[in-house]
Amino acid sequence: MCRKSIFSCRRAPGPGGRGLVKAFRYGLVMPGGSRIVFDLTGPAKIANSYVLEAANSQPARLVLELEEVDRAAFVQSLAPENRPELRPAIADAPPATVPAAAAPETAQQKADGRPVVVIDPGHGGIDNGTQSSGESEKNLVLAFGLALRDRLEKTGKYRVVMTRSDDTFIPLNDRVKVARGLKAALFVSIHADALPRAEGDAQGATIYTLSDKASDAEAQRLADSENRADAIAGFNLAEEPTDVADILIDLTQRETRTFSSRFAHLLMGEMKATVRMHKHPLKSAGFRVLKAPDVPSVLVEIGYVSNKGDLEHLVSEGWRSRAVGSMAQAIDGFLAKRMATAGSSN
Ligand SMILES: [Zn+2]
Repeated sequence: MCRKSIFSCRRAPGPGGRGLVKAFRYGLVMPGGSRIVFDLTGPAKIANSYVLEAANSQPARLVLELEEVDRAAFVQSLAPENRPELRPAIADAPPATVPAAAAPETAQQKADGRPVVVIDPGHGGIDNGTQSSGESEKNLVLAFGLALRDRLEKTGKYRVVMTRSDDTFIPLNDRVKVARGLKAALFVSIHADALPRAEGDAQGATIYTLSDKASDAEAQRLADSENRADAIAGFNLAEEPTDVADILIDLTQRETRTFSSRFAHLLMGEMKATVRMHKHPLKSAGFRVLKAPDVPSVLVEIGYVSNKGDLEHLVSEGWRSRAVGSMAQAIDGFLAKRMATAGSSN
């Protein structure tokens, strides 16, 4: 009976819940700040919340008492003035932002004329992404992203910036802001997909670019699921600034899309030499993280954690190193051409 006090139930943290709580999860959302998210079975209110000091060899406990309410009462309680107790830190604090987005560039960084490559490992913190056989997408793509960063930095040709370099949650808009704020030459988001068992098996890497209309139903499903990252972490999309929420069909964006597509093709050409690719490796859909109007952006699903063979690759350092090598090669090819063009037009 867990209707009243969730954490008195001593259930291991995880997706399972009971009573009014369908599922819950928690994790880091900003330096020094964690968030707990509950999915409820229906409208409810927090009747009481308090912390119990550690006692009787039990750790300190956060106790939340939930009470079922009807829909009208629930909607009423959503008004900001009715929920001050839950909002102090969240309302006042800036969104969980990586230093690159928050801090203005130093003079030294500005003077660094090298093209900026932003690597964006998906998910993080409270948002695990897809999971299979004990492996989480958030960890796999972070390892991949860090390896790619190291590879690119070794060339000395680029300034490489990570949207996250540890297990922190970063909202989608903040990831886009990092790329825009640094006037990045390229934004590469790294993910690993999964197919529900009922939908059969799929394997291989897929490269996605932005489009208003998904290239197929699977691309649409994936974009929907990747775009849910903020909701999973408990971020209210309505409160997010909407500067990149709408796709601007202007010339800048059209040119950016051309470059994104050019990079996607180059990347496929390089990756297929070392990485098993999906049977339709180039797709497009409305990924929020790809919506910087002025930064060529692609999202790479490096494989399916739900596929046994892919998962073996994803956790293998040898595979990672080869895949990262191909990606670095494609980035080199793309940026060499862009820099040459930029140089000649001056
Ligand atoms: Zn993902």
